[in-house]
Amino acid sequence: MRAVVRGFTDRNGGVSEGPFRSLNLSWSTGDDPGRVQQNRRRAARLVGWPEDLPVHTARQVHGRDVVRVTSSRGPERGSPGGRPASPDRWSDAGTGDILVITRPGQAAAVLVADCAPVLLWEPSGKAAVAAHAGWRGLAAGVVQAAVRAACEAASCSPEQLQARVGPAIRACCYRVGGEVIRAVGRAVAGDGPQDDTGWVRREGESLFLDVPEAVRAALIRSGVPPERCGLDGRCTACHPELFYSYRRDGPRTGRMAGIIGILEG
Ligand SMILES: [Zn+2]
Repeated sequence: MRAVVRGFTDRNGGVSEGPFRSLNLSWSTGDDPGRVQQNRRRAARLVGWPEDLPVHTARQVHGRDVVRVTSSRGPERGSPGGRPASPDRWSDAGTGDILVITRPGQAAAVLVADCAPVLLWEPSGKAAVAAHAGWRGLAAGVVQAAVRAACEAASCSPEQLQARVGPAIRACCYRVGGEVIRAVGRAVAGDGPQDDTGWVRREGESLFLDVPEAVRAALIRSGVPPERCGLDGRCTACHPELFYSYRRDGPRTGRMAGIIGILEG
């Protein structure tokens, strides 16, 4: 029997300070690497993943490329490849916004601050996916590509998948241009109506995008049953005490994670 372990982190419970307070999981925005490593171990523990097992991440580029994790081991200390030892056991598995795992002992994480972390899994643990979806990814079809990748890896149909969408920026806060709504709409609604869809809010001339609702629309359109698409529901920009938000705080802020792993039960 396999078990799927998963969760979303918020900004609390870590050791980082200043704009990165406190559970920042990325060192790409200027935080102290030692603190990030401590935070990563804590994040694994928080979602129930054994901290001595690897967590695979990817260089996220707001696209729809798939990274298939092939190793269940993290980077090795002093490996001939010359990759630096990473005591936090997190390692880079490639470039893309969709990580696919199929073996016990593997975990995948996407890093976010306003974009949606999306977790998909086949309930018996044949495969699991972590995907990173902001408006650019949505417009590129990242959700549909994630569903396809999960089904391929698990040899199942979309109706059999479970999906959870973590905290992300919502229509209360995320003002965007009409071109963003059109680009997202083409990908998640096809030629269907783009108003009253749950993922667009109009206020006078202004338009607001609801990222988690757009992800849910794309999941449903891809064949995942609505009752299997769970939304966290909280807006990252609305809660400075709970979440990092790129839109609210600018580039010097932290990153949270959606993490999913497979364990042999
Ligand atoms: Zn909000």
